[in-house]
Amino acid sequence: MEFIFIFIFGIVIGSFMNVVIYRIPKEESIVFPASKCQSCQTPLKWYHNIPIFSWLALRGKCGFCSEPISKQYPIVEFITGMIFVAVFLKMGITIYAGVIAIVFTLLLALTMIDFKYMAIPDSLNLLALTLSIIQPDFLEAGHNALLAVAGFTLMRFYLSYLLKKEAMGEGDIMIAGTMGAILGFPLFFFALFLSALLALVPSMIAKDTDHAVPFVPFLALATFIVFVFDNEFLELGVWIMNG
Ligand SMILES: [Zn+2]
Repeated sequence: MEFIFIFIFGIVIGSFMNVVIYRIPKEESIVFPASKCQSCQTPLKWYHNIPIFSWLALRGKCGFCSEPISKQYPIVEFITGMIFVAVFLKMGITIYAGVIAIVFTLLLALTMIDFKYMAIPDSLNLLALTLSIIQPDFLEAGHNALLAVAGFTLMRFYLSYLLKKEAMGEGDIMIAGTMGAILGFPLFFFALFLSALLALVPSMIAKDTDHAVPFVPFLALATFIVFVFDNEFLELGVWIMNG
């Protein structure tokens, strides 16, 4: 029963995240003004703002001008609801679970922004990194974040030298810090490996079309998968080590 409330809480946060995804890259305030239709600019009524349900009730169209409303809105709301349920199931109902759920929601926002703009805002990225350290053992989390940041920075030095161009962005390094804080070691490495694996197919497709592939979505997705299935990945690690 409590998970219904957690899901509802999650989709409300997801609804706010839609505003963040839309406005942060444009450097607009995320508080004012109230949401309006992007086609006819009519300010939305409160009943147009109910996560998921309004979009379904309006059949994906603006209530005033009937222009289609992006599917991205209900999808982000639904995924955020599921993130909250998954994290609270995993960690129990604690403040810390709420913080980690918000960190994953920020990674989702960064994912959507990276898909759209091929760049991510430092504000959200640093917020995720800062929040990820708020854990019962924050010294351990901070230590893991620093290790991941240092490791990524070192890797960047080598790669940039070998490729003779700037490899990886500073944004990737910040996300690595968040991954380190949330997962710790050796799970961090599993997430890194998994993200490269997940990015492989899209990268090969993009090679022919000359499109760059954003890497943040794969880092974020891999981190979430490894977080949810941490025991399975640790067992896999033991199995590999023992041949
Ligand atoms: Zn409209």
